[in-house]
Amino acid sequence: MDRQQALAALTGRTTWDLLIIGGGATGLGCALDAASRGYRTALIEQSDFAKGTSSRSTKLIHGGLRYLEQGNWRLVRDALRERRRLLINAPHLVRPRTFLIPCRSLWERAYYGTGVLAYDGLARDRAAGGTRVLGRDATLQRVPSLRARDLRGSVVYHDAQFDDARLAVRLAAAAWEQRAAVVNYVRAERLLIEGGTVRGAVARDVETDREWTIRAKAVVNASGIFADRVRSLESPSAPGRLAYSQGTHIVLDAAFLPGESAVLIPRTRDGRVLFVIPWLGSVLVGTTDEPTDRPELEPRPASAEIDFLLDHMRLYFQEVPDRSAIRSAFAGIRPLFRSASGLATSRLARDHHIEVSSGGLVTIIGGKWTTYRQMAEETIDRAARVGDLPPIPCRTRAMPIPDRDRSVVDSRITEGGAWARPIHDRLACTRADVAWAARCEMARTVEDILSRRTRSLILDARAAMEAAPEVAAVLADELGRDASWRDAQLDAFRELAAGYLVD
Ligand SMILES: Cc1cc2nc3c(=O)[nH]c(=O)nc-3n(C[C@H](O)[C@H](O)[C@H](O)COP(=O)(O)OP(=O)(O)OC[C@H]3O[C@@H](n4cnc5c(N)ncnc54)[C@H](O)[C@@H]3O)c2cc1C
Repeated sequence: MDRQQALAALTGRTTWDLLIIGGGATGLGCALDAASRGYRTALIEQSDFAKGTSSRSTKLIHGGLRYLEQGNWRLVRDALRERRRLLINAPHLVRPRTFLIPCRSLWERAYYGTGVLAYDGLARDRAAGGTRVLGRDATLQRVPSLRARDLRGSVVYHDAQFDDARLAVRLAAAAWEQRAAVVNYVRAERLLIEGGTVRGAVARDVETDREWTIRAKAVVNASGIFADRVRSLESPSAPGRLAYSQGTHIVLDAAFLPGESAVLIPRTRDGRVLFVIPWLGSVLVGTTDEPTDRPELEPRPASAEIDFLLDHMRLYFQEVPDRSAIRSAFAGIRPLFRSASGLATSRLARDHHIEVSSGGLVTIIGGKWTTYRQMAEETIDRAARVGDLPPIPCRTRAMPIPDRDRSVVDSRITEGGAWARPIHDRLACTRADVAWAARCEMARTVEDILSRRTRSLILDARAAMEAAPEVAAVLADELGRDASWRDAQLDAFRELAAGYLVD
């Protein structure tokens, strides 16, 4: 992916078939779907790809046992079908993971055992199967850090996990390979409305402040928690469709969860489930579900949310760390479709909703990372009708999502030596990663590298802060920036990263 090339295409005089606003899971899925059908496709993202909710998930590709309990069979069945597709289409990005539900009574064991069997029955794929009920000793053998007291056994089942930001960037790259013009740091400021119909958007390059008009036969609003804001650009009095719910995760050292199994804590105070998951050599714990009325790109975890996570771990684990052991804490905001008022956000459905305004703006909201492909298929079907495009069937159901191909860059990156060594002893990020991300994955800032091209910031915020000067130096070199740019980047990153530290 080359940002200059994408900008050159976007500022040209073409009328695109489709303009997509938003470069999270939903928008990037739409871009890949549309471009692979042969539609001329443009996507603009106001910040970095997956800067919003799509890099802040629990990193599960799953049907969601909880939604089964809520009776949402259709959502679970669709999500499990998409899980099956992702395990085949992106095996380098989405991997099976074993989960264990600790039970405190025989009744619980029977209840969750039955639920998981139904889940597997809906799935019918290679991530499913192998579901088992374990006794107390076998449970402790698998997860020795569980509290033995009160434990009556467990139910083991299988699901899948992934690196959300990485999949997002690979979707952007896949869309690019299908000739979509995808670009980050370009914001839709206004909609272009002619004769009452939405015909494109006025875009601003956030790096240069340059504004121009992008024309398109149909415009897709995939701006996540900002979808109501983009809808209001067409019709300021349009009623809101979204409810917002903040979810916080904490990241701990791998020692807190020895073994390969993740743990699902089956019932929290607010009637949810909580996950404790091995992830990229650390342990991810989350999430909370707190209603909020502020859609923010960089939400901060509340102190009470962190206490909530630690308190619930204490109920099930022997040794629970105190706050000082937390390597990083991060929050994300769910864009939830407000289908029925008065429901707690934890009860609001994770279904998606597609709406076409009177002026033809196609808005897609809600859903899950797991179902991004299906959401994209349905959205592009609708958008093609709105834009009067020739009907072309979706091609992504069995389309592989390619991995990084490092052979396309020069030998300095591939040969090893200092370039292949981690910049920091607690992080995997190398100079080669920085150079690669700048050249081939449109990384523009120190944050892009440390937060999303590598997951350094959310794995270990302090180590990421320590690695930042070296990252800034390599990035400045790659992008041809001067010392003042480097210093400004460092200041901005330190300020951001401080919000991921826990006192
Ligand atoms: C705590 C938490 C845990 C979750 N865990 C899971 C999970 O384990 N599995 C799962 O399947 N799902 C999970 N989800 C849900 C999933 O993460 C979301 O459904 C998904 O990421 C939403 O993607 P999106 O593209 O709609 O939104 P976003 O990722 O927020 O993308 C929208 C993008 O639009 C951009 N944008 C906004 N306005 C403009 C504009 N004017 N111009 C240009 N760009 C604009 C934003 O910058 C943003 O990047 C979780 C969500 C949360 C919050």
